[in-house]
Amino acid sequence: MPIFEYLCKDCGRAFEKIVPRYDSIVDCAHCNSAKVEKQLSVFAVAGSSASGATDFAAPDGSCGRCGAAQPGSCALD
Ligand SMILES: [Zn+2]
Repeated sequence: MPIFEYLCKDCGRAFEKIVPRYDSIVDCAHCNSAKVEKQLSVFAVAGSSASGATDFAAPDGSCGRCGAAQPGSCALD
């Protein structure tokens, strides 16, 4: 079964859950809220930028993932 990462809109916390189907309804692991949003996987985001998508493009060489002005100035790099 696939594992997906979710972000709860009620408590703002992220969690991962193994679900039987891609579109399965899940509740927040922390507060049981149903208002959770499935997050794109890290691999999917990296693939989209490599294929020319502009959503995460960094026009001036900035991080692009967190909005930091310089690469390496955020925790993600
Ligand atoms: Zn929650």
